[in-house]
Amino acid sequence: MAFDSLQLAVYLLISLLGLCFGSFVNSWMWRVKNTREKIGRRSVCVHCGEKIIWYDNIPLFGFLRLRGLSRCCRRPIPQDYFWVELAGGFLFLLVALYHLNLVIFNPVFFARDLFFICILLVIFLYDAKYQLILTGVVAAGGLGGFIFNLFTARPFTTYILLFNHNAAAIASNLALGAIVGWGWFAFQYYASRGKWVGGGDVRLGAMLGLWLGWPLILVCLFFSYILGALVAVPLLILKKKQFGSALPFGTFLAVGAVITIFYGQPIFNWYLRFLG
Ligand SMILES: [Zn+2]
Repeated sequence: MAFDSLQLAVYLLISLLGLCFGSFVNSWMWRVKNTREKIGRRSVCVHCGEKIIWYDNIPLFGFLRLRGLSRCCRRPIPQDYFWVELAGGFLFLLVALYHLNLVIFNPVFFARDLFFICILLVIFLYDAKYQLILTGVVAAGGLGGFIFNLFTARPFTTYILLFNHNAAAIASNLALGAIVGWGWFAFQYYASRGKWVGGGDVRLGAMLGLWLGWPLILVCLFFSYILGALVAVPLLILKKKQFGSALPFGTFLAVGAVITIFYGQPIFNWYLRFLG
C-alpha cells in the first residue's frame, strides 16, 4: 500500500508541475505577443496591466476563486487560460503514466519526452491562437531534441538499433528525418510561393524530423494530414472556411508528433505487417 500512495504522490506532483507549466505558457505567450519582453516580470492583468497577486495566479484555483473575473478591474480573464493550465497538467500526467509503467524506467527519456511535450504545447497553442510558429521555439526544440536523442542513444525508431547505438548512425538517421520533414514542406512552399504553407511549417518539419528520425517523420506527417482533414472538411461543408484558406498547420503537426512520440513505432510496425 505504501508503494501505491508513493506512486500517487509522484503523479500528483508531476500533474501540478504541468499545471504550473500551463500557467507559465499562458502569460509567456501573452507577453511575446503583446510586448517585446521574452521572460521575467510578474504576471499582469491582460486588460489593465495591474500586477497579479501570487495567490490569484495559482493554476485553476485562482481562476475558479475569482469566477473568471480579474480582481483589479473585474473584467473576464480569457477562458483559455483555464483550459491551457488543465491541458498542461493532463499532458504531464500522461507522459508520467507512460514512462512510469515501462518495464525499465529511464529518467533521461522521461525528461526528454516532457521537454518535447512542453515545446509541442507552445507550438500548438501559439499557432492555433495567432497563426504563427515561433522560430525561436522551433530552433530551441530542434537543438534540444537532437542533443537528447544523440546522448540517450535511443531515438523513437527501433530501426537504428540495428546500428548498435552508434552515434554517427543515429545522427545520420535524425538528419535524414530532418531533410524529409524540411523537404516535404519546402517543396510546397516554393511550388505555391508560400500560399499553401508558411516558412514556419518548413522549419517545424525540419525540427520534427530531428526529433523522430526516419521513418517515423512519415507517421507524424500522415497523422497531421488526417487530423487536418478531419477539421477542415466539416468547416468547408459548413462554409466557415474557403477552400485554400489557411488552417494553422503547426497545430496539427504538434498533435501528430505527440501520437508519433508514444505510438509511432508500433503504428509503423503494424503498417509494415499490413503490407506483408
Ligand atoms: Zn485588470
